[in-house]
Amino acid sequence: MPTKHDVALRTEIIAVACDMARTGLTFGTAGNISVRVDGGFLVTPSGIPYERTTPDQIVFCDLDGGYEGEWMPSVEWRLHRDIYLNLPAAQAVVHVHSPYATALSCLRIDIPAFHYMIGKQGGPTLRTARYATFGTAELSDAMIEALADDRTACLLANHGQIAYGKSLAQAYSVAGEVEYLCRQYAIVRTLGTPVILDDTEMTEVMRRFRTYGKQPRDCTPEEVAMMDRPVRRDG
Ligand SMILES: [Zn+2]
Repeated sequence: MPTKHDVALRTEIIAVACDMARTGLTFGTAGNISVRVDGGFLVTPSGIPYERTTPDQIVFCDLDGGYEGEWMPSVEWRLHRDIYLNLPAAQAVVHVHSPYATALSCLRIDIPAFHYMIGKQGGPTLRTARYATFGTAELSDAMIEALADDRTACLLANHGQIAYGKSLAQAYSVAGEVEYLCRQYAIVRTLGTPVILDDTEMTEVMRRFRTYGKQPRDCTPEEVAMMDRPVRRDG
């Protein structure tokens, strides 16, 4: 596991934060990123524009609510801390107020399986956590509930979205996919009432997602057996 002193990791956090501002996933200093390290996590600081953030300003927080150094962590540090405390698989967290996810979060509905890619985040819906004031333990508790059953992302009511992954690249990718799905759902809602994929179909989708995007060499024998792949020819 990386340590809190890892300059390359601190630099990567800044690079991803700058990229998410550039791509429109967030604006200004809204949104924050963290990566699990030995003894806690590294997180973006509060109120410093990403393009002016330097590696020493990335804040180390422990899992007991403490932080080190002169820079205060993001006001939403608790969301990150509670994911690391409750979800051992989480190695990185991305929280953003991306436009479509945030817009849909204000409807306070779970996004249904209007598209099979909803299943990629671990279940047949993308849940919306109940509303609570930002920065509070209540919001954190609501988020953890919404992430139950191995969901890797959720919306936060009247607020935005949060996603985690096995790496920073993966967490960032999940946040991007969530925004894209929310954009598609917003479009379809303007066109009419979408047909929702039923539980039987989503169970099959979830089964296929176990090996989605993986090469056979990265899978267990059981996963390879369930792959519906073309026949390999040795040329
Ligand atoms: Zn926020």
